[in-house]
Amino acid sequence: MQSHRLERMTWMEVDEALVRGVDAVLLPFGSIEQHGPHMPLDTDCFIAQALAERAATAAQSQGLTLLVAPTVNVTLSWYHMQFPGTMRLTTETFLRVFVDICDSLFLHGVKTVIVVNGHGGNVAALTVAINHYLETTGRRVPVANWIELAADVVAEIDTPTIHAEEAETSLAMALGQRVDLSLATRDAFDRSQAVREAGLPWSSLGRYDASHVGPSVIVPMDMLRDISPSGVVGDGTRATLETGQRIVDVVVPRLVQLAYEFAQASSSKASVDKVGQSNADK
Ligand SMILES: [Zn+2]
Repeated sequence: MQSHRLERMTWMEVDEALVRGVDAVLLPFGSIEQHGPHMPLDTDCFIAQALAERAATAAQSQGLTLLVAPTVNVTLSWYHMQFPGTMRLTTETFLRVFVDICDSLFLHGVKTVIVVNGHGGNVAALTVAINHYLETTGRRVPVANWIELAADVVAEIDTPTIHAEEAETSLAMALGQRVDLSLATRDAFDRSQAVREAGLPWSSLGRYDASHVGPSVIVPMDMLRDISPSGVVGDGTRATLETGQRIVDVVVPRLVQLAYEFAQASSSKASVDKVGQSNADK
């Protein structure tokens, strides 16, 4: 196959691939938002797409055919809008875009769609989106967030993993993104303290950091420039190629594993009833 990327194929090549059998389509979600002074706006897109492409290549050697759909680039970045260049969809639009894209893929006979997400700000809405999609179409679309897929490696990093920091900058470097480490910053290192210092509503129970343990409440996102002048939340200066490569080395095979497991389940259950249909029949 010339390319795993759907948009780089002709319709006849897509048709041929579908007839031969596509095990899953990976659908990258990124964002167009500031990533500190040291990385471009498309960093989440770059990461999601690069991981998806590497997974598709790795899968091929294991006899699994994965295609990579066009990256959904403009997403939920309203809280970065104080930084020039950031673009965003409203949550309502985002949810509709998700449905329209998945519907398009399934219409052509794709059996399994897997979201590869590079942007933490999409997670809550994607969770709503995939559950609503199952409720209304009977189709299950899993979401793979690289931070969660690499949870064991990320846990070994002793700086917060929030935005444009050590883990993300390392991963971007390992995947070949344009990164200028000489411009990287350490900012809002303790996000909870940064929120408090900005005079914003704050609670000691607030989950301001993905690694928060113990009792917690969910607090809304803060406009990031209120807490971080550079846009970095964490420490971008500590990034290394080695850390990034360790993340790539665990995420890629886990994406292949997810695709394999979901594709197996989809082919053994060719038709899925709509959730709620049995209730409606009662
Ligand atoms: Zn990012």
